[in-house]
Amino acid sequence: MKIVVCVKHVPDASADRVFADDLTVDREGTDGLLSELDEYAVEQALRLAEAGDDVEVVVLTVGPDDATAAIKRALQMGVGSGVHVLDDALHGTDVLGTSTVLAAAVTKAGADLVVCGMSSTDGAMGVLPAMLAERLGWPGATYAGRLEVADGHATIVREDDTARLTVEVDLPAVVSVTDQSGEARYPSMKGILAAKKKPVQTWDLDDLGLDPADVGLGAAWAHVVGAEPRPDRGAGQVVEDRDGSGAGAVLEFLAAGRYA
Ligand SMILES: Cc1cc2nc3c(=O)[nH]c(=O)nc-3n(C[C@H](O)[C@H](O)[C@H](O)COP(=O)(O)OP(=O)(O)OC[C@H]3O[C@@H](n4cnc5c(N)ncnc54)[C@H](O)[C@@H]3O)c2cc1C
Repeated sequence: MKIVVCVKHVPDASADRVFADDLTVDREGTDGLLSELDEYAVEQALRLAEAGDDVEVVVLTVGPDDATAAIKRALQMGVGSGVHVLDDALHGTDVLGTSTVLAAAVTKAGADLVVCGMSSTDGAMGVLPAMLAERLGWPGATYAGRLEVADGHATIVREDDTARLTVEVDLPAVVSVTDQSGEARYPSMKGILAAKKKPVQTWDLDDLGLDPADVGLGAAWAHVVGAEPRPDRGAGQVVEDRDGSGAGAVLEFLAAGRYA
């Protein structure tokens, strides 16, 4: 079985977001890392590989030069090889274009199962796995808190406060997993050393048979029209309770701001 894990290289959420003149995120001006939620996807793929015979795990990313850091981290965790889709024409590609590129790359790589994170920590739309499944014409099972694979099926359990849903899909399929699916491992020293020798292929749009006109900022359906720093928070309101009226004042404050 071949498992492709889709991971995204994202700006470090603790750093200031920097925008380029065309209002795309300046990814090169900001430190980046493997989207933390994608570590759960890598972990699930590695667990499946450890539990089964003859399971190959490949990590796949679409992104600029430095996105290779996300691949490296997944290789250090234990993934066997990587694919980086890199092409200048991808600049500004939105989720529609990204899912087109990933579908072409998954088709070229060949896969029985694609595992994604539940959401990136920057765009955070959480829609890419469903779009990817649709483009591949495969079943998609998203937001898995638990993932099992056996006899040509993937079974996921999706749970919230009110219900537990068990979904079974035939392979090949696309699955996204949540941060409830199982603690992601840290790379060991052995893993870090081994990663240096693991193969990483770089594909461009030509390799994938895609037309640059169908991706990039020009083909994007979503356009950022403005970005400005969040205004500083004003000073808070202090309520002094000298005569027992404090609770009422707090209540009035909450009601006026509709915070209830
Ligand atoms: C170089 C570059 C430039 C971009 N410029 C723009 C832009 O100008 N405007 C814009 O709207 N968006 C832009 N994006 C964002 C890109 O289109 C997003 O990857 C895509 O929109 C997915 O949305 P999301 O991040 O909210 O993913 P979600 O739907 O939240 O992601 C869910 C899961 O999908 C997988 N995934 C998501 N993105 C990738 C990826 N790139 N490679 C591999 N797996 C992935 C991961 O497993 C992730 O956990 C850019 C991305 C890149 C890499």
